[in-house]
Amino acid sequence: MDISYGKSIAETLFNLYKNNDTNMVNMGDIFAMIDNSGVRRSDPRLSTFLGKITENFGQPAGEDLNSFISNLNADEETFYKLLDDNLVLLYQIIRNDVVIPDWASFTEQVTEMFNKCKTNQGGEVASYIPQLAAYDPDLWGMSICTIDGQRFSLGDVNTKFTIQSCSKPFTYAICLSELGNEGVHKYIGQEPSGRNFNDLSLDPSNKPHNPMLNAGAIMSSALILQNILPREGVAAKYEFLLKYMTRMAGNEVIGFNNSVFLSERENAYRNFAMAYYMQENKCFPEGTDIHDCLDLYFQSCSLEVTSESLSVLGATLANGGICPITGENVLNPCAVRDTLSLMYSCGMYNYSGQFAFKVGLPAKSGVSGCVLLVIPNVMAISLWSPPIDSIGNSVRALQFCEELVNVYSFHRFENLNNLVTQKIDPRRQSYEEKTHGSLTLFFAAITGDVSSLNRHHLQGVDMTICDYDGRTALHLAAAEGRMHAVKFLLETCRVPPSPQDRWGHTPQEEAFRFKHDEVGRFFDNHLK
Ligand code: GLN
Repeated sequence: MDISYGKSIAETLFNLYKNNDTNMVNMGDIFAMIDNSGVRRSDPRLSTFLGKITENFGQPAGEDLNSFISNLNADEETFYKLLDDNLVLLYQIIRNDVVIPDWASFTEQVTEMFNKCKTNQGGEVASYIPQLAAYDPDLWGMSICTIDGQRFSLGDVNTKFTIQSCSKPFTYAICLSELGNEGVHKYIGQEPSGRNFNDLSLDPSNKPHNPMLNAGAIMSSALILQNILPREGVAAKYEFLLKYMTRMAGNEVIGFNNSVFLSERENAYRNFAMAYYMQENKCFPEGTDIHDCLDLYFQSCSLEVTSESLSVLGATLANGGICPITGENVLNPCAVRDTLSLMYSCGMYNYSGQFAFKVGLPAKSGVSGCVLLVIPNVMAISLWSPPIDSIGNSVRALQFCEELVNVYSFHRFENLNNLVTQKIDPRRQSYEEKTHGSLTLFFAAITGDVSSLNRHHLQGVDMTICDYDGRTALHLAAAEGRMHAVKFLLETCRVPPSPQDRWGHTPQEEAFRFKHDEVGRFFDNHLK
């Protein structure tokens, strides 16, 4: 970063947080601010900051890091030295320039939803292999990771489980990133199949219907083996997958469950049948060894994650391929867009259509009871509870998704023009968006476009909003002599009749000043 710019940010921070008596900043205050934003103290983007603190002040052995930090005070010079490498993130946090600015209210509401779903006793734990059947049906975890790395977790979020079918969007995204669109779509379709996830069928051009079903995911494995790394041995190919997943998970837990892998392979008659069927139909790239290919498929299903790490994996998708907590660009954004499109139409087994209708967000579920929900450009939520319904989706996770979009306007089509919604939008509004809303409102007032004013009003736009000069829509409509618009603003929207602009002018004065006497007199009824 430009040194003088960095210095001025550090100076601003120092002055904002310094104790005027001691001229020092308490590091505990800085960390409290970080905590409130939802970003974790352990976030890799802050590791240099934390490292410098312990290095500079010498953390006594055995002392808890948090209490050690809350007693540290830094003078100006030390403060600059400590912050140096992490200024951008810290400055972002201090300005609260994060995608969900009111983190406290958001997490409070989400906690309520989480607790509500906890009591749901529906569904059965998958039993096709003993390793899955052994999971306690009461396990229930939920983790959130936003595109700015704000984190929140509840319940059983550090228990490991196998990722199962939630690996499918990731293996597909890797293929797209590495091979491009054409290299993948020669082999895998994009159509929902309307059939079971392990159905023995291909689309009319003899390709697996889509990569979210077993056939398509087996094909993704074949592409990794045969087209991405044709010359490597199988161990290197597995490592390639594992490393990719680990980067997407920001280096959080990605393990491997060998018992599940062996069990999956032992009980995989259907997947073997599918692979042979595809071989018979010449679906695979030339030279594919279907046993290696199935192995890599079972291995990808047997990768172990926690609800925590799965949320980071998902947040990399939500963030267009850049892992939010490391800042590493792992996937090509076009690959992510295409993956999310198919999660939206095909990610929830035979419930995908209803899920897209009701929840309106891309998601993927796995037979271990996990569901990964992606809110593009906002966050990912991973949900995990082993009991699944007859279609294969976790019962608690499904309920949670529905509760979420009942409260928040996250459904993709919740923001349609003329749609009046009471739902909460917790996302930060950009300057541009806010300004755009006021600009279109002002133009509607100037041109006397009452139906556009009405639309703004119905959408909950603040009709009293003013520009930099203190001019409101009412000032503009009056100055232009737009009687219907003035009437609408005063009588339907009930805006205050005499706001003053920066020169002290009221809308009525503006009407007379520009010789719209009838409009000017109309104000008399409202000014009594
Ligand atoms: N390993 C399972 C299978 O291939 C994964 C299925 C799933 O999660 N739906 O059948």
